[in-house]
Amino acid sequence: MDRSALTSTVRGLWDDDILPSLSDLVAVPAISPVFDPDWAEHGHLAAAIEHVRAWLATRDLPGVAVEVVELPGRTPVLLVDVPAAGAESTDTVLLYGHLDKQPPVANWSEGLGPWTPVVRDGRLYGRGAADDGYSGYAAIAAIEAVRAAGGQHARCVVLLETGEESGSPDLPAYLEHLRPRLGDVSLVVCLDSGGSDYDRMWLTTSLRGLVQVTATVRVLESGMHSGMASGIVPSSFRIARQLLDRLEDSATGEVLVREMHVEVPANRIAEVGDAVAAAPGVQVSSAPWAPGVQPVATDEVELALNAGWRPTLSVIGADGLPAPEDAGNVLRPFTTLVLSFRLPPTADSKASVEAVKRLLTTDVPYGAVVELSRIEAADGWNAPDLAPWLRDTLDVVGDEVFGAPWRTVSLGGSIPFMGLLHEAYPQAQFLVTGAVGPDSNCHVPDEWLHLAHAARVTEAVAVVLDAHTRR
Ligand SMILES: [Zn+2]
Repeated sequence: MDRSALTSTVRGLWDDDILPSLSDLVAVPAISPVFDPDWAEHGHLAAAIEHVRAWLATRDLPGVAVEVVELPGRTPVLLVDVPAAGAESTDTVLLYGHLDKQPPVANWSEGLGPWTPVVRDGRLYGRGAADDGYSGYAAIAAIEAVRAAGGQHARCVVLLETGEESGSPDLPAYLEHLRPRLGDVSLVVCLDSGGSDYDRMWLTTSLRGLVQVTATVRVLESGMHSGMASGIVPSSFRIARQLLDRLEDSATGEVLVREMHVEVPANRIAEVGDAVAAAPGVQVSSAPWAPGVQPVATDEVELALNAGWRPTLSVIGADGLPAPEDAGNVLRPFTTLVLSFRLPPTADSKASVEAVKRLLTTDVPYGAVVELSRIEAADGWNAPDLAPWLRDTLDVVGDEVFGAPWRTVSLGGSIPFMGLLHEAYPQAQFLVTGAVGPDSNCHVPDEWLHLAHAARVTEAVAVVLDAHTRR
């Protein structure tokens, strides 16, 4: 493969073909179904799919089959099936991304907005540019560039879903539906991740799992004057605090649910050390700290292991608590807390959720009523060991594309599809990466895509696709 042709093709595709179309995609308010229950009626997810489909129709990819797959009652999927080029191969590379987006949220900076694409200083601002609108374009561009540079690739299937930000509830059904068509998947490329800087290739080697429970502690059928009831009726908030103390050490943040702890594999501890050495200080400096606030530990490796391999609890929502300006002197009848646990990659989410249920409902103080609802559990993912060909190729990518060695990320978030794919294709190799950096503002105001980095990631995928056929 002609490496300089590859580089120039990728850059040209990004400047002339991708940026205009991706900018228009930013303007489509394709909010993920969980944030837009009327998504089918609104049609934004379908519009996002149609937008990318129309762009694909302009591409020069002989033999390509583009299809919108839509199972009844489920969010649509865009499937792009590109036949092998230059290589005799019977296996499939599956390239994954998503077109649904996080909600817009308030407080975008002056001149920026969620549905307003703005290119400034080599960045494309707008919701869904980095997470994860660019992914389908990058995947197709990588394939096109391999061909243009005289390289070869196996059959590539690009799968873009529209439910990722809702936890990919429809993907298991699609995976089952599409399985006979996907064939023998030997490499999975996921472009919905990122790393700690824009200087190198970041390979995600693990993802955390998730347990979510909404817990209501009820003490009364209706509220009472707090001057009359307090001291007689126990506070639902105090009982909730006691129950929380069963789940988490409030002094240290250590999660006390035994089922959620695992032994961190030695290779992951070593990788975390290398990653911290490559991009020191990033984890701490990328948080918008309030004045004077300190991180939970001073050792950066410990912080990275906390975020990648240890369970944590976040209280992400509450009910039964009036807004401050509406608060009266009332002993409230109930307190509801939404508990979101992140689990280590190899923890058993089902056993974990059962343990949480047991801890919250056994011997409840004062016999208070505890109601649990909206219960979710998803396992994390720990990547299989890298095959020698892929490790060698990543070294080449480090030398030739980025000029800096590749590093790994034990990502604290979840990409539910990876676990599913790993189960379905236990022999497959995984290239989980992406263009997102620590300050790309995914899920918050001012989301932006680093355009030059996205082009380098595209080029890296192209190099891997070519090497995959020569392994
Ligand atoms: Zn994403």
